[in-house]
Amino acid sequence: MNAIEVTDFRKEYGSTVAANGLSFSLPRGTVGALIGPNGAGKTTTIRALCGIIRPTSGALQVAGFDVDQEPLQVKQRVAYVPDDPPLFETLTVWEHMQFIASAYQVRDFVPQAEELLAQLHLEGKRDALASELSRGMRQKVAIACAYLHNPEVLFFDEPLTGLDPAAIRLLKQTMSHRASQGATVLVSSHLLALVEDICKHLIILSRGQCLFSGSIEQAREQYATTGSLEEMFFQITEGATSDE
Ligand code: ADP
Repeated sequence: MNAIEVTDFRKEYGSTVAANGLSFSLPRGTVGALIGPNGAGKTTTIRALCGIIRPTSGALQVAGFDVDQEPLQVKQRVAYVPDDPPLFETLTVWEHMQFIASAYQVRDFVPQAEELLAQLHLEGKRDALASELSRGMRQKVAIACAYLHNPEVLFFDEPLTGLDPAAIRLLKQTMSHRASQGATVLVSSHLLALVEDICKHLIILSRGQCLFSGSIEQAREQYATTGSLEEMFFQITEGATSDE
């Protein structure tokens, strides 16, 4: 079963076409990479899948529910970590965990919240206000909040840019672990080498169009390459350039 199903998704911002009839799917229990140059439509696609923006046309399904028709069912089952996560500046790290647990009705959240803070090396910041945190720490708080309610589908938009190497490794391990437990993870990035070792599935966007969607093995077969993800990416997007 597919956890994400996008059919003919189109999004226009005035005269800009951010998504131009995208179709792709992502099987359950998979870590998928949403790859593409700046302006390709990655953030637009993720935001539409989370129900934050409405498509101009097309259908989006997440966790078996239609994002437009059944937004609440979708929102209960997904977590979204944007690249610069908005936190509540006057709440502490622990209060963020309490807030999420209450919003998503997570029972007995304390042991899991404590484990997440320990895993992400945030125990020392438990009582710090969000306004006192570094960019990397803010990202880690957003990641802890995302994991706390055990979502079926997790969206990470450029999650690796503000993190140090140890945190990147940790995040990748947690993504793979969640997928092995049945969750689905879609991670957008332009840092190809960094997602190469955890992603089983590739979705390549360029200028609002989907150039490839399938497993890494399928991509290798189709493009007859044994090279790195980066080489494959340039082969697939050859001729397509950044919009910015
Ligand atoms: P990516 O995440 O791949 O860099 P985006 O989805 O952010 O791409 O952007 C795709 C295109 O849509 C770009 O040309 C961008 O300028 C445009 N765009 C994105 N968001 C908006 C917005 N809110 N208003 C107008 N144009 C937008």
